[in-house]
Amino acid sequence: MMKEINDAVDSLKKLGIHSSFARKSLFSLLQQNKLSETINLLQNAIKNIKLCLMCNNATNESLCFICNNSSRDNKTLLIVEHISDLNSIESSRVYQGLYYVLSHDFFHDNTELEMQKIQKRIIDRQIEEIIIATNTNLNGEILSQILVEYINLKVKISRIAHGIPFGQEIHNLDSATIFSSISSRKIIQNISE
Ligand SMILES: [Zn+2]
Repeated sequence: MMKEINDAVDSLKKLGIHSSFARKSLFSLLQQNKLSETINLLQNAIKNIKLCLMCNNATNESLCFICNNSSRDNKTLLIVEHISDLNSIESSRVYQGLYYVLSHDFFHDNTELEMQKIQKRIIDRQIEEIIIATNTNLNGEILSQILVEYINLKVKISRIAHGIPFGQEIHNLDSATIFSSISSRKIIQNISE
């Protein structure tokens, strides 16, 4: 296989695309003479996508459409692991508050720095409830415990309910399951504590 093809397949694999599908798509676009057109479209799209300064959601402005929307419930902050989780929760329309997507820093030895950002957000915005919506697998549970430990502020903290089968990722859930997991969330820290 040409080195160039292998390199292209490797970069698509980093996006989570299976190597056989990546190779097939590349060859198919090449055959249809659409490879460079597709890459240009992708490049243009990527050039304009950045992370929201407030919540790390994808946006083409400095703040995303959620942080910019003054009619949202700005006293509730829901923390997710991935932008795709935020998207699924938004599509379910069951949640009207604000979000925080854990950033690269949090997962790569910069937890302290990230937690300072989250704490600042909680204090500045006078957040009254934090909903931890990390995945319900082992990693998500560990992240949830780390968050509770680090937040260390007198604020109500709740965790999405375990109606979700263990090991499930939020972005794969249907709206009804998202609804029941958020509406029957469990309080793990109350303000009076
Ligand atoms: Zn935002």
